[in-house]
Amino acid sequence: MTISIQETLQQLARESYEVATAKGWHENDELDENGTPTVRQLLTWCALFHTEVTEYEQVKAHYYLDGEKPCGKITELADVAIRVWDAMGRLGFETESGGIRCGSQSVRHAIDVVIEQARIRGVHNMITLGLLNDLVDKVFDEANSIGYNLESFVWFIKNKMAFNKSRPYRHGGRLA
Ligand SMILES: [Mg+2]
Repeated sequence: MTISIQETLQQLARESYEVATAKGWHENDELDENGTPTVRQLLTWCALFHTEVTEYEQVKAHYYLDGEKPCGKITELADVAIRVWDAMGRLGFETESGGIRCGSQSVRHAIDVVIEQARIRGVHNMITLGLLNDLVDKVFDEANSIGYNLESFVWFIKNKMAFNKSRPYRHGGRLA
């Protein structure tokens, strides 16, 4: 991975959290007595990761525009990465994707590993950070498996991020 791609990924990770915060998505987060997100909050985010994977599995077209909105398989995978990076930012973890590694775990399995470990060990520890980074890597592996290498998938993430920035506060009043 070149330096510039690494920097691009870090920037996208930071933006994922900044845009979600600016759009009001962290207003109702469940926090513990220290003001940090609870295990249940992380489990809620994991449920939303799964909904994006479901959208990825269900949509046939790889990419299309619905008006201004980017849609399609590759955009739904971008949504998974954006949501995971957002959660990492909210948890106060340094948001970066380490080396992109190949592996046989599916994205769903990687989410479930996060869920299981959070249930056992809690949220704020290096295991959670590592598992969330593993999950992002699986998303990139999945993009690669349907024909989008690192650089091209980054384009689709930027594309969806630009749309997210343009959306109204809480997308016009959604609860989550
Ligand atoms: Mg989506």
